[in-house]
Amino acid sequence: MKRFIYADNAATAKLSSSALDAMLPWLQSDFANPSQPYSFSRAAKTAIKEARQIIADCIGASSDEIFFTSGGTESDNWAIKGSAISHTIITSEIEHHAVLNSCKAMAASGADVKYLKPTRDGVILPDNLEKNISDTSLVSIMLANNEIGTIQPICELCEITHAHGALFHTDAVQAVGHIPVDVKSLGVDMLSASAHKFNGPKGVGFLYIKSGTSLLPFHDGGSQESGKRAGTENVAGIVGMATALKENCERMSETAKRLYGYEKLLIDNLSGLDFIRNGGENHLPGVINLSFKGASGEAILHRMDLKGICISTGSACDSVNTQVSHVIRAIGVPVEYAQGTIRISLGADNTEEDVVAIANALKQILSN
Ligand code: PLP
Repeated sequence: MKRFIYADNAATAKLSSSALDAMLPWLQSDFANPSQPYSFSRAAKTAIKEARQIIADCIGASSDEIFFTSGGTESDNWAIKGSAISHTIITSEIEHHAVLNSCKAMAASGADVKYLKPTRDGVILPDNLEKNISDTSLVSIMLANNEIGTIQPICELCEITHAHGALFHTDAVQAVGHIPVDVKSLGVDMLSASAHKFNGPKGVGFLYIKSGTSLLPFHDGGSQESGKRAGTENVAGIVGMATALKENCERMSETAKRLYGYEKLLIDNLSGLDFIRNGGENHLPGVINLSFKGASGEAILHRMDLKGICISTGSACDSVNTQVSHVIRAIGVPVEYAQGTIRISLGADNTEEDVVAIANALKQILSN
């Protein structure tokens, strides 16, 4: 029987069993609307309160700074569109489209948006921000890149931003649950996260908003989320997200150590092939972005699929786009390698055997 190997965890990760178990009662027996005044609603209201506290503890926030959303895209849209009131934004060329297209929408309504260039390793240098910042209201730089895994120097970027009186938002969708994230030591004003990237359910996430930060409500309606994000809460999703995040944080260092080991194993097993590894030394555990000389990333993806192996050519949201991704272009991967780019993203469930099978499959495909 053909083995199935899932190695696209940066696109989405499998729901953890404990998150599923924690979610079920809120979909069935305890289905009450948490906003109702009767006693049947009390358990749901308490579950949301507890989930908010668990999530806050995982990122060093206080519970009243956590606002539940429908995921990373919504959190990014909210942070950018709700805070850039004076319409001057700095972001980077390698952000996710949730940020890039939110900035594009702001630009269409008159905002001035600057895009910082990354280094060849995908790093946004603090000096680059320092040179470009003036009369800026918002800086939005991701914590870790979804295609190449590079982790940004957020503390330094944040300090520069604050010295110029601007707000700092970070898209931490790929980082939360995978590397330690502490909002206070990072110094950020807003931080986006999404549950399905850390083994929680799809369609739920949160935006951290530092206490005292002025941000317009995402949308208007009822008084949920302190009147900033109206709508009946996704109780099961919120509980599942908190359960998954706590679980991932508890096993984070063990998982990261194992995944960094697997990366080395994979690269060692690819010796003899002509490829470049993209992304810097400081990168997310298990995210391996490779560009093979003279190859087609899309063809590799489909041939891997025939072997039962799921990988990606770039970000999941880009899967219909066969062009070289904006990230690969921005970091300047040489043209003869750029078309042959793939992303392998390993997760907590992957094994050493998976990694060896992935390497063998790549060698077979690329030597034909
Ligand atoms: N930001 C980054 C860095 C991502 O990788 C993704 C998803 O791929 C998103 C935002 C969007 O998150 P969601 O799928 O929860 O809307």
